[in-house]
Amino acid sequence: MSDVKEVHHLHIWTLASNFYALSAHVVIKDQMLSKGYLIIDKLEKELEVRFGINHPTFQLEADLSNEQNEVIKISRDSDKKG
Ligand SMILES: [Zn+2]
Repeated sequence: MSDVKEVHHLHIWTLASNFYALSAHVVIKDQMLSKGYLIIDKLEKELEVRFGINHPTFQLEADLSNEQNEVIKISRDSDKKG
């Protein structure tokens, strides 16, 4: 899915027969929380249909790589001035 930048801390385990749990951190681009939950909704449906995983838990994280680069650039500029 193109909305998802990265997935980490992925764990899948069985709670009972036919009851599969999944937990993962999902990195998406910085956006409205309501949009993020639409992505989660899509992920949950796809996991259930394709893999029979019916108890997923996701933690959403915003991809802040661009913002972080911006902060580094600003601090370098202010170093030159100072
Ligand atoms: Zn994480």
